[in-house]
Amino acid sequence: MKQIRTRFAPSPTGFLHVGGLRTALYNYLFAKKNGGKFLLRIEDTDQNRIVEGAVENLISTLNWSGVDYDEGPYKEGDYGPYIQSQRLEIYKKHARQLVESGNAYQCFCTHERLEQVRAKQIEMHLPPSYDRLCRSLNPEQVIEKLNNNTPHVIRMKIPLIGETIFEDVVRGKVSIANKILDDQVIIKTDGFPTYHLAVVVDDHFMEISHVIRGEEWLPSTPKHILLYNFFGWEVPLFAHLPLLLNPDKSKLSKRQGDVAVEDFRAKGFLKESIINFIALLGWHPSDDREIFSFDELINEFTLERIGKSGAIFNIEKLQWLNQQHIRKLSAEEIFILLRNEFDKEGWLKYPEDYILKVINLMKERVLVLTDFVNLCKYFYEEPNSFTEESILKNWKDDTVNTIKSFVAELEKITDFTSVKIEESLKLFAVNIQVKPGIIINPLRLLISGTNVGPSVFHMAELLGKTKVLARINFGIQKLSSK
Ligand code: GLU
Repeated sequence: MKQIRTRFAPSPTGFLHVGGLRTALYNYLFAKKNGGKFLLRIEDTDQNRIVEGAVENLISTLNWSGVDYDEGPYKEGDYGPYIQSQRLEIYKKHARQLVESGNAYQCFCTHERLEQVRAKQIEMHLPPSYDRLCRSLNPEQVIEKLNNNTPHVIRMKIPLIGETIFEDVVRGKVSIANKILDDQVIIKTDGFPTYHLAVVVDDHFMEISHVIRGEEWLPSTPKHILLYNFFGWEVPLFAHLPLLLNPDKSKLSKRQGDVAVEDFRAKGFLKESIINFIALLGWHPSDDREIFSFDELINEFTLERIGKSGAIFNIEKLQWLNQQHIRKLSAEEIFILLRNEFDKEGWLKYPEDYILKVINLMKERVLVLTDFVNLCKYFYEEPNSFTEESILKNWKDDTVNTIKSFVAELEKITDFTSVKIEESLKLFAVNIQVKPGIIINPLRLLISGTNVGPSVFHMAELLGKTKVLARINFGIQKLSSK
């Protein structure tokens, strides 16, 4: 059997879109599952869209996510170069070949003329397309214009009759009447190829067996099939992935939130949960499992289980998955991921053992990695302010007296463990005939400055008796003077 070779072929526009990562991931999973190779090819033939540093950024985000390519820029294989702007001669040669075989032609129409044609078509409610004027130039006319260096493009000679048919792994049989296809430009006036020529030439010479890409490329595929036919090349298998949608079913866009993988990373999402989440955007496993490791995805993945209908990008699901994957990590692993952040906060002065205990205490409660910083400040710094809302909720007229009497109990505890603190508090509550919450809530407020968090007993044990008593005293003074 022929080797499976797949590719991710992004245009370097500056960041990696989640849709791009999905395409890369599916290509990667399919290649790995079948012992094949996964390539990265940079499609940078549109010189107007080039962004400085975009390729490096894209590669570093791919590396971070673990979707690692076997061949591509900085990892040359036998089919390079893998950057289209370094392959211009190959495209020119093949465009010339198509002109010689009568499957393409030079078009000398000026921009102004094309605009006029288009305006007229719009006026007549016709779909805009080239009117094929230059298709009927005779060889002498063409030679004369070329000798005069008249600017020109090269266009495909789309058959005027018949149908182009192909089998899409996701969509099934797709057929389109040739007469509705435009004579596609394949070489632009600047001598650069358009996407359509470059993608076909490269997929052929890079021996791509399966083209797995977003649904937005489906309408272009008939033109690609025609190009394969013109060259007499074997057509790869196509699989077009369903669109990614916002919860309101509109096309996923930046306007409704983040779409760059980098943004999710910065917000504290683990690569494991991003990959897990993205894998399920359009593909479903054979059972109703939702949590997958990378290796499990490789084992399970098949093209046949990709759906046709749009996949909804549900951020709550990503958060839930992130929570599940964070729980699977050890405190040590989380510490390594956050070392730099802790350093920035100045928390590395605390013993590692203490930081690990904080992580363990919070692990079940966080949604994103950054919560280990933002929700954990009071483990490292004294709370010196209390929000109005938490005071209103937890600080009543008689609270100060209750807490003051409880402090006397706390002071008596020699073995300052969560179990002992809890015992003492519950006994005290029974003695003064109040519910434990009447003491627990203000206590939490005084110790942490907030009204949410892990068990107050564990929190107190971790902070230690001296700090707990100091914070209570400080808080009482502060809140009493209100
Ligand atoms: N360069 C195209 C893109 O930016 C690739 C489309 C394809 O995979 O054929 O998505």
